[in-house]
Amino acid sequence: MLLTITATHRPATDLGFLLHKHPGRFQSYDLSFGEAHVFYPEASDDRCAACLLLDVDPVGLVRGKGTDGGGGALLAQYVNDRPYAASSFLSVAISQVLGSALGGRCKDRPDLASTPIPLEARIDVLPVRGGERFLRAVFEPLGYAVVAERHPLDERFPEWGESPYFSVTIAGEATLSDLLTHLYVLIPVFDGQKHYFVGEDELEKLLARGSGWLASHPEKDEIARRYLKFRPSLYRQALARLVQEEQPTEADAQGEERPADRAEDALERPLSLNDQRLGAVLAAIRASGARRVLDLGCGEGKLLRELLKDRQFEEVVGMDVPIRSLETARDRLRLDRMPERQAARIKLIHGSLIYRDRRLEGFDAAAVVEVVEHLDPPRLSAFERAVFEFARPLTVVLTTPNREYNVRWENVGADRLRHPDHRFEWTRQEFRAWAERVAVSHGYTVRFLPVGPVDEAVGPPTQMAVFERGE
Ligand code: SAH
Repeated sequence: MLLTITATHRPATDLGFLLHKHPGRFQSYDLSFGEAHVFYPEASDDRCAACLLLDVDPVGLVRGKGTDGGGGALLAQYVNDRPYAASSFLSVAISQVLGSALGGRCKDRPDLASTPIPLEARIDVLPVRGGERFLRAVFEPLGYAVVAERHPLDERFPEWGESPYFSVTIAGEATLSDLLTHLYVLIPVFDGQKHYFVGEDELEKLLARGSGWLASHPEKDEIARRYLKFRPSLYRQALARLVQEEQPTEADAQGEERPADRAEDALERPLSLNDQRLGAVLAAIRASGARRVLDLGCGEGKLLRELLKDRQFEEVVGMDVPIRSLETARDRLRLDRMPERQAARIKLIHGSLIYRDRRLEGFDAAAVVEVVEHLDPPRLSAFERAVFEFARPLTVVLTTPNREYNVRWENVGADRLRHPDHRFEWTRQEFRAWAERVAVSHGYTVRFLPVGPVDEAVGPPTQMAVFERGE
């Protein structure tokens, strides 16, 4: 996806100072969902254009999403508009790559940062729910002239009609900070998809970024409703704080469990393997003395709930890829209703374990429970680096199925895996070999513990490794 910002005041190359990006350089940034690049196709005194090109990795994002919804939904996880259509990812990139400009900070040209200048922003592909009328209703009250060009579904087949995608240019006199702020808040408003987890902090972000313009915007209701991705409780709070009056709406939808998870649960229930695993992981984390703990691939939050019950843990962070899982975790933990002091100990974040993620650094321990087998083998090395090289917690407690044990389950057997989303399952020897190599390469020691009843021939149903970082 591509965002181009053009300045025409003289000298237009001042845009480089405002953006904190040199017009002569091509710069790239690693983000948690792909890469961002900044470059200038044009830089003269009269006209200077800066591009923010975002390269989203759609395959990386869907890993571990499960197979709910059947083949069509699965295909849509891989074949979708994320790489090119502007969405909340672009907002995240604006805040991470152009953060100083967004905040209006510029030590080289402080006056210019606070002066409205002629600026233009072009979004090459913006999916617009609500069509051109809504597009204009959103940008025109903020003082922008809007040029919108709608694209057909397929140029070769005009009879198929129009697509929801527009090329949009907005132009007006604004400070760069205001322009970026408007884009930051409004781009996700046009897109119906949720690409991130909408939590309480989204409400705070909306109110902070909307300060000074949103409360008086004629479309503020619709903007708040869509920005908060139709979560009625947050939307109500937003409106209450924007207009000081509350409107009741229907209750929040409850999360649902995925059918495939139920199948795996049913399989393992007679052993209450789930509980044994949870107990074993908790015991290992407690014994490590950890106070700040990560649950990576937290799913619907079973371990998070147990961690929260124990006062030893001062900070607990759960991370996962599917928004649906995070929402279910949030509902099950009753995060919305939790007393403030309790809520301050827990955070749910949206992210993928195959990218370096600074939010995961500096923790005492990380649990990675029944997650690795959901990763494609070629991505396993990215996972290893993300956890053991970059996040580097002092302790990592990792569990995974023992494939050898599958013969003990009638309806699994030697040739099948336990869950349709498992990419592989390791034998004890394979797990040991992998874990020992990872430990040695990243300066950890590792020991192995069985989880569940140990069968003499095939071992335990679940295998656990406890990695400890050497000093
Ligand atoms: N730890 C939980 C969930 C296990 S299911 C439990 O024990 O109950 C596997 C989980 O790994 C899913 O929630 C899945 O979304 C998550 N997962 C898969 N790939 C991931 C990735 N790349 N980054 C983060 N989580 C991932």
